[in-house]
Amino acid sequence: MAAAKPRPLVAGNWKMNGLRRSLATLDAVAAGYDASLKARADLLVCPPATLLSAFAQRAVGTRVAIGGQDCHAREAGAYTGEISAEMLADAGASAVILGHSERRQYFLETDAIVAEKTLAAWRAGLVAIVCVGETQAEREAGKTLSVVRRQLRRSIPAGATPANLVVAYEPVWAIGTGLTPTARDVAEVHALIRGDLRRIVGAAAAGQVRILYGGSVKPSNAAELMGVDNVDGALVGGASLKAEDFLGIAAAYRD
Ligand code: PEP
Repeated sequence: MAAAKPRPLVAGNWKMNGLRRSLATLDAVAAGYDASLKARADLLVCPPATLLSAFAQRAVGTRVAIGGQDCHAREAGAYTGEISAEMLADAGASAVILGHSERRQYFLETDAIVAEKTLAAWRAGLVAIVCVGETQAEREAGKTLSVVRRQLRRSIPAGATPANLVVAYEPVWAIGTGLTPTARDVAEVHALIRGDLRRIVGAAAAGQVRILYGGSVKPSNAAELMGVDNVDGALVGGASLKAEDFLGIAAAYRD
């Protein structure tokens, strides 16, 4: 008998967007997360750190989980402007996005830094959503699979389990551009990730780790992308800022 698939996750990365009035968007997402969706998929909203606490309080009783977008590797100390995984957890987060390509590109995060942050997330009891993905130049050079493999190997430390790790495949050239890979390309990379997860979490657990696709997911392409083998949900940027669009993407999992 084939093992059950993991429960899908649709996560919204708000990036540096959102003010207190954005609580209304969270309310709308929670209100739209009706029984048919609840039965099929988890929803996670990752607002900027300034809103975490307010979002987490507002989300109590709604089943929408709240996550952070990054964390520092240390628990506390003289790191001006930084936020630790423990602080995220204390504010009500249950997960944190790590190694997003914008962090890798603009803040020069290496795989080694992402691995340290992943350990920090686990130390604080958070689910680490580790992002991997190739640039346009790497894709054109035929290096997609080797880049993703290297990022997986170096960014995920020992100790990963289906309960503490989510992998997000986000081709850098698809983020915020409106471009998406073909379903076939997504299937190829997700199959590779699933295969490598056998080494990372063991063969028995590999099928239970959620692998999200991210990069220009919107309501109009969600059903196709979410229907690809080994795609267990989405990491959504721009379209997560509007409740209607975010729920429209999650609707790919409605009965
Ligand atoms: C992202 O930044 O994680 C992302 C997927 O962005 P977008 O959906 O806007 O492409």
